[in-house]
Amino acid sequence: MSLTKCIKVWTAAILEKKAKASGDLRKMDFDQQRAALIRHILKSREGKKFSRQVVAALEKVPRHRFVDPDMLESAYDDRALPIDCNQTISQPYVVGIMTNWLALESRHRVLEIGTGSGYQTAVLAEIVQTVYSMEFHRPLADKARALLDELGYSNVLIKTGDGYHGIVQEAPFDGIIVTCRVDKVPPPLTEQLVEGGRMVIPVGPEPQQVLFAYEKIKGSLKILDRDLVRFVPLLRK
Ligand code: SAH
Repeated sequence: MSLTKCIKVWTAAILEKKAKASGDLRKMDFDQQRAALIRHILKSREGKKFSRQVVAALEKVPRHRFVDPDMLESAYDDRALPIDCNQTISQPYVVGIMTNWLALESRHRVLEIGTGSGYQTAVLAEIVQTVYSMEFHRPLADKARALLDELGYSNVLIKTGDGYHGIVQEAPFDGIIVTCRVDKVPPPLTEQLVEGGRMVIPVGPEPQQVLFAYEKIKGSLKILDRDLVRFVPLLRK
């Protein structure tokens, strides 16, 4: 580590300690808050397994730009927060797990169902070639598109509509991530995944779902991993 980096890390650690001691995390700026959040996530059982690319993406994406302005103080809390249209921006830890389970490579084309704030979309876009993201609510899709454009994510395509059907014209995808819960995996999504590709999706009713990581083997989904999560439902027209 260079001396400058060393001093930066050291200063950040002191500021974090001070802020925590006074119970006032607002004293830290957003970059420091984000670094602290990621350090916290990386200590968890799943966090320890995150790839270098996933960690770098989480470190880079400014979550405070994706939350509602009146939620700024909580932007780097490790929890889901309310956004427009009665939806939520996902918990950073869960975004990390979902992204890691996709085992992404830079050449990949990924389909996301449920753009929401666009936060998870940006994390994916940091790693892969192209992200196709579908959002049910037009106001959310428009807002996310404008923000992702502003932040320079030119490798993201956002479509408004019912993601249950995926995007046939752009299939197949190397990875599929669904950020709203389903009762059963939508068959069109399985069809639109490449052989050997991964799908990460929360399945089950309220109040708690099982987040599955699947791999498509000989046309059907095999479970690779699972965890317990809470997601908003996939809406149908
Ligand atoms: N990854 C997002 C999470 C948003 S919550 C984020 O971090 O901000 C889930 C999103 O799925 C909501 O925005 C909701 O509107 C969207 N959604 C629900 N049903 C959908 C459907 N059928 N097709 C596409 N998006 C859907």
